[in-house]
Amino acid sequence: MAYDPDNIFAKILRGEIPNRTVFEDQHVLAFQDINPQAPVHVLVIPKGPYENMTVFSNEASTEEQVAFMRAIGEVLRITEVAEAGYRIISNNGQDGVQEVPHLHIHVLGGRRLGRMLDRPAA
Ligand code: 5GP
Repeated sequence: MAYDPDNIFAKILRGEIPNRTVFEDQHVLAFQDINPQAPVHVLVIPKGPYENMTVFSNEASTEEQVAFMRAIGEVLRITEVAEAGYRIISNNGQDGVQEVPHLHIHVLGGRRLGRMLDRPAA
């Protein structure tokens, strides 16, 4: 499936939709989730047009991949969740129930997060 340049995160990257930025560098943007599921809920996205982790891990440059991992580390530092603990999630594709077709990592923390997986409602 081709990357959809009209997805909401592509619009955020182009500055067409505002965001509350937590961290940014040449390759990565991290911003507050609009519908937070925990006191800390930050989305980390690559700036390149990567639909999911499959594409990113296969096609992104080493520099982009390293920058992505380091940006997650920066978000953990900025949000101060490391000591109490946190969860990192990336939903991919249909079974992963990915809503926005631009790779993103959710960084969640600030409360006990409960079990890792829930049974699907349907
Ligand atoms: P997914 O279900 O694809 O893993 O997660 C998509 C996430 O993007 C959701 O947590 C949702 O709240 C968030 N989201 C959707 N639209 C926007 C938006 O316009 N701005 C921000 N900051 N987050 C968004």
